[in-house]
Amino acid sequence: MTDDTEPTFYWAEVVDRTTLSPNLVRLTFGGEDLRRYRPAGVADECVALYFPAPGDARPPAMQCVDGVWWYHDDATRPEGRNYTVRRVTDAGELVIDFVAHDGGVAASWALSARPGDVVVVTPPRHWFAPPADTAWFLLAADLAGLPALGRVLEELPANTRAHAIVEVLDEADVQTFESAAEVTVQWCIGSGNGHGPGVLPDAVQAWEFPPGEGYVFFAGEAADSRAVRKYVRREQGMGVDRFDIIGYWRVRAEQWLAKYTAVEKEVSAVYVGALQEGRSESEAALIYDEALEKVGL
Ligand SMILES: Cc1cc2nc3c(=O)[nH]c(=O)nc-3n(C[C@H](O)[C@H](O)[C@H](O)COP(=O)(O)OP(=O)(O)OC[C@H]3O[C@@H](n4cnc5c(N)ncnc54)[C@H](O)[C@@H]3O)c2cc1C
Repeated sequence: MTDDTEPTFYWAEVVDRTTLSPNLVRLTFGGEDLRRYRPAGVADECVALYFPAPGDARPPAMQCVDGVWWYHDDATRPEGRNYTVRRVTDAGELVIDFVAHDGGVAASWALSARPGDVVVVTPPRHWFAPPADTAWFLLAADLAGLPALGRVLEELPANTRAHAIVEVLDEADVQTFESAAEVTVQWCIGSGNGHGPGVLPDAVQAWEFPPGEGYVFFAGEAADSRAVRKYVRREQGMGVDRFDIIGYWRVRAEQWLAKYTAVEKEVSAVYVGALQEGRSESEAALIYDEALEKVGL
């Protein structure tokens, strides 16, 4: 059954393009339809972007089935990827920074995008939720996580302290941030980001966790995120409400996906089972990650 509830997706048109560095392209999205977008107002606000097929002017529209707007037909669903909303402008436009890595539908599209090009944007999701008593923050990210890390720093309240560790490829990727918090930033230049092993897990372990209640934010490569999550939980003993540690992308994703497809049913059942037992989404995600690790993923 189809119906005509207001679409919960938005057409977004490129209105501006800036090359931030050899590795980062900033696109600003606007247009009439995007005025309906309601920002989450949370620092790691993330949307899925759906891209046109090569040669097409825009991706297809989502369809509404039983009140749910989505690409219900697997065969015609366009390619979609997650991106952080770096900033919402006063005019309601969305600023998004893309890593210009080799390969990939999203990176290739962003590298050649021009004003007037159109994508589909979903409503936002977010995870960053530090408890009110948080006195200090440790933030770590690579290039893909840099937009979220930058926004977290800029939105931190006064009377908090934050240490940020950022792994980039080039001096030109280094950015400056305005923050009400007391901030130190440690730049690790020339590693990770698909160009060799990342240094973030070691850098996080080398940093001395201060006394008092803290919160750890990590946004970067998936294997690095697992190493940091383990350290934070097992060595630092932090509870699930004390961190937001997310794998934003995966080195050699194609090989990983081929292995994952073979065990998808089995490991998905572990996640669903954890939720059914009454575990929170964060706890279920940890149990799911352990199940993946057990099968070598
Ligand atoms: C919540 C969330 C927020 C995100 N925010 C951003 C953001 O603001 N900006 C951003 O650039 N990315 C962001 N990402 C990461 C982005 O979704 C992935 O990098 C995505 O895989 C890119 O899609 P693609 O089509 O370019 O490459 P894919 O088709 O997914 O992958 C193709 C190849 O490129 C490699 N690859 C993918 N991403 C990277 C990378 N970052 N560096 C090096 N190699 C890579 C893969 O290993 C694979 O071999 C976010 C992810 C999440 C989950």
